[in-house]
Amino acid sequence: MAVPLLDLKRQYQTIGAELEAALIEVARSGLYTGGPAVEGFEQAAAAYCGVEHAIGVSSGTDAILISLMALGIGAGDEVITTPYSFFATAGCVRRTGAKAVFVDIDPQTYNIDPAGIEPAITENTKAILPVHLYGQCADMEAINEIASRHNLPVIEDAAQAIGAECAGLRAGGFGLAGAFSFYPTKNLGAMGEGGMVTTNDADFADTVRRLRNHGMSAQYRHEQIGGNFRMHALQAAALTVKLRYLDDWTVRRQHVAATYRRCFEEAGLTDRVTLPVEQFERHVYHQYVIRTERRDELLTALREQQIGCNIFYPLSFHEQPCFADLGYKKGDFPQAELASEQTLALPVFAELTDAEIAEVVDAIGRFLD
Ligand SMILES: *Cc1c(COP(=O)(O)O)cnc(C)c1O
Repeated sequence: MAVPLLDLKRQYQTIGAELEAALIEVARSGLYTGGPAVEGFEQAAAAYCGVEHAIGVSSGTDAILISLMALGIGAGDEVITTPYSFFATAGCVRRTGAKAVFVDIDPQTYNIDPAGIEPAITENTKAILPVHLYGQCADMEAINEIASRHNLPVIEDAAQAIGAECAGLRAGGFGLAGAFSFYPTKNLGAMGEGGMVTTNDADFADTVRRLRNHGMSAQYRHEQIGGNFRMHALQAAALTVKLRYLDDWTVRRQHVAATYRRCFEEAGLTDRVTLPVEQFERHVYHQYVIRTERRDELLTALREQQIGCNIFYPLSFHEQPCFADLGYKKGDFPQAELASEQTLALPVFAELTDAEIAEVVDAIGRFLD
């Protein structure tokens, strides 16, 4: 039995009629960018994340970029982040002209290791940019403690972690700002591109709202240079419908994770396969990532059996050709490098069945035994 890594058509089968009605309403309204659909989504999303302000933008990448721009970060500045994430995290830092300073990850959670942050702070450090990777919050209590001691703003890359919690707060509510992505494969996915910046700081929210619209403060008056980072009304309408289902989908993802664990234990595979570690109470399982020394062979074996799987991420930032000018070399971040050699993401989505999960674990067992 083939098992897909992700199948968005199954989700559409469950809520398609409701989505279509919402999209038609926007189509008939004539209001296609900004407007009531975007404002309605922003209010619902702010409440969901437990923050004062949510600002809809064009993508998750733009949410990170605009947050850095709102802080005035640029050439000569340094931003501390992880070497192990989707490209946009470090790419946005470089696009502002600032230098990305990497700190190795915790090998259990794959998130930035707070112990490495303080030694990386210099007089040029302007922000800390942790990522809540795979749907689990970075250790925000430890990170915020360091940040407040050094008076540094924290921008969370929460693209993979909408609804994730740690110490009673939700992703996007720990730092000065949270950057979210609604790329279709994310836990809350648009029918195209979308993103969001969250904050509890009214001035920061105003700045982001201006920058989203070319830095315009009054009609055709520009105090700052921003860009076109606006959210599409059609995406906001789709996201408003989907947000109502997000908690149900999260419960399903957690069920998938628990079922994988049970199947791996029953098959006696946990000595050869390392399963995800839940450090905090609400992991939203954007990805279900296992670890094995025979990762590359396993990937080939699973693909031959038509079991969906993928490597997130095969190359750490410090090994990317485009960041060669940062002067890092192989060996600088050993935990990130090991993770990129040993981890494999398995299928996880709300509609995945228990039979499919058992099939994935069987296929892994056949290969390892
Ligand atoms: C998806 C993602 C982004 C970028 O979001 P887009 O909407 O694709 O621009 C940024 N950071 C992380 C960690 C992501 O997973």
